[in-house]
Amino acid sequence: MNVISDLVTWTSLKRPDMVADLFTYVCHETPSDDKALLDAGLAWIEKWLHERLGKPDSRRHVDGGAWGDILILDYATDNEDDAWVTALCHYDTVWSAGTLTQWHPTIEGDRFSGPGAFDMKAGTVQLVWALKASKELGMPLPNVRLVLTGDEEVGSPSSRPVIEREALRSDAVLVFEASADGAVKTARKGVGLFQIQITGREAHAGLDPEAGVSAIDEMARVIVELHAQTDMDNGTTVNVGLVKGGTRPNVTAGTATAELDIRVSSEGEARRIDAVLDNLATRHPEAVLTVTGGWNRPVMPRSLQTGKLFSTAQAAATQLGFDLNETSVGGASDGNIAAALGLPVLDGLGAIGDGAHARNEWISIDGMLERTCLTSALLAELHYDSKLPTPERLLTEHRLQRANSRH
Ligand SMILES: [Zn+2]
Repeated sequence: MNVISDLVTWTSLKRPDMVADLFTYVCHETPSDDKALLDAGLAWIEKWLHERLGKPDSRRHVDGGAWGDILILDYATDNEDDAWVTALCHYDTVWSAGTLTQWHPTIEGDRFSGPGAFDMKAGTVQLVWALKASKELGMPLPNVRLVLTGDEEVGSPSSRPVIEREALRSDAVLVFEASADGAVKTARKGVGLFQIQITGREAHAGLDPEAGVSAIDEMARVIVELHAQTDMDNGTTVNVGLVKGGTRPNVTAGTATAELDIRVSSEGEARRIDAVLDNLATRHPEAVLTVTGGWNRPVMPRSLQTGKLFSTAQAAATQLGFDLNETSVGGASDGNIAAALGLPVLDGLGAIGDGAHARNEWISIDGMLERTCLTSALLAELHYDSKLPTPERLLTEHRLQRANSRH
């Protein structure tokens, strides 16, 4: 038997163990906004990793402050010159504490459903079992750095600098976020989160209307202008998703606020939107408008390096007898942060399933086995891959500065 059929056989034998690990992991609730649960979840993850993979060669624990802590575990080869691959996994979920009491994990046939299974606990289980498979079957492995973060679902406020630091010291970045119908994600949009505040002047709307300056009237005009910036052909969407203002029907509104989610596919579009926001003006000279917020995650373009990494993954899938597709998506992840550093990034290597952030999120167990094999085969290929050329590294500093320019 060749190593690929050994891998497929080994993985199928471990199916019950993998499902059990996912079950236990999902039963540890890890909402992004509950530090105590995040701490307990991360402690369990570390113990579980120790059981499955043994002691890491190096361990770094970074305090996440109000958000989840960050744990970095290095699994090194015997050769320092082997390629370094950083694997990004977030352990936080969008599900609040107590969700499990109404929604217990279920297994029906090939489907496993439970809070956080698809986004992205199954992805982490796959990676861990892929590393275990590679070790037990004696397959080649690069140096692997596992970065576990607990604030991805809230925009990675604490983990971002840590992800940047750790990813920079690697040759490729693999992100075990959920797939898109099995396709990996080689491009993601950048996301801007902005707030607009308008201050006007209150007055009696019936008795003294001319004394008032309506913040709501001003905001309505601004919203129309902002929504007009959506440009589907260029991949730009502008959504004012939350508006508040005023106090009573018979009072001219003194204040109004709006919250925006903006997605762009290119740096050029991000700069265009920046200019629009900088030039927003009120019609009434006495109304005051301020814009706060910024670009939360930079655009993840499909770079040449990422294309090469995808080809490597495709070749690994071919060895396993299936086709691997790629796609670009509007959602952002920590892959955007790594891509902005100029690194090759392959995202969406995680679960096959559906329903991220929805009450029915589920994963395919067969898919979990297939992706485990894919990860092992990909890591074997990356072991042989040469390091990034130096010019790419030189560009990295510059890109890091640009990525941070709006923070
Ligand atoms: Zn996720």
